[in-house]
Amino acid sequence: MNVLTERLAADALICAEGYLFECERRGYLQAGAFVPEVVLEHPEVVAELHREFVHAGSDVVEAFTYYGHRGKLRVIGKEDVLEPLNRRALEIASEVARETGTLLAGNLSNTNVFQPDAATRREVRGMFAEQVGWAVEAGVDIKEAGLPAVVTFTVNRTGHLRSGESPEEACQQAEAGGADVVGLNCARGPASMLPIIERIRGVVGCQVAALPVPYRTSQEHPTMQSLADPTRPERPFPTALDPFTCTRYEIGDFARAAKELGVAYLGVCCGAGPHHVRALAEALGRTPPASRYAADMSLHSYLGSDPAISEANRDYARDL
Ligand SMILES: [Zn+2]
Repeated sequence: MNVLTERLAADALICAEGYLFECERRGYLQAGAFVPEVVLEHPEVVAELHREFVHAGSDVVEAFTYYGHRGKLRVIGKEDVLEPLNRRALEIASEVARETGTLLAGNLSNTNVFQPDAATRREVRGMFAEQVGWAVEAGVDIKEAGLPAVVTFTVNRTGHLRSGESPEEACQQAEAGGADVVGLNCARGPASMLPIIERIRGVVGCQVAALPVPYRTSQEHPTMQSLADPTRPERPFPTALDPFTCTRYEIGDFARAAKELGVAYLGVCCGAGPHHVRALAEALGRTPPASRYAADMSLHSYLGSDPAISEANRDYARDL
């Protein structure tokens, strides 16, 4: 047992994700290249978002090193800021984790250079190794240092990984390789992720993670990238996904369904807002600090049921 598996044996853990999309929405990160330069340019924005996610119920502060790897920085011609960016992201997350008493996680992301061949396997390994090195120095928990690892895969439209494995096979391999938690994150919303999670739960012995995107994916459009908007010609991904966003209640339903399946490591990925994280926490029976402001429509000026609301306004409600 380690700090992660001990915590998971006792209760579910919530890990908020989605820093890339949220910083983009807030105007601090460019869609397209999607490089987290905000870490260096506006560290206060990243720190505040970490705090908001913890306030909403996240048990883990995940360093914003997503896409902070050599491949992405090469695309924007800034490989020279690779190391400072990783170190700063870890420093910001570490500060907030300390301040809030939460767990600190490093983060390695998809590299986008991988092809199923030996040369890119070596390149990916090198990119991961340098990021792991910085993360270990910053004090996060990573397997090769004898510390915990959560390994999640993204399942695209095909239903299998780019390297050919089924999600179940990939998770079994990760478990055999020493991962403490295996599962899925990103691309798929709750509806198209949970059926695969159920299959994974059936074939691995370790704890399982599920971190869907908060979008209304379906069997026909199983990923956020494949969603189509009948009212617009362009692909909604990544900057016009708003009409497909799951409500907080749908994320609550997801949390209950995932817990029912035995999933212990829960979160929401790209597109997540603090209200989604709070809904997830509340569905697990928790009251994070943000629950202080959970909705209470009984006090609404027109829709409320409280005696303080005038009869005239309640009658007028039907005309709103
Ligand atoms: Zn994501």
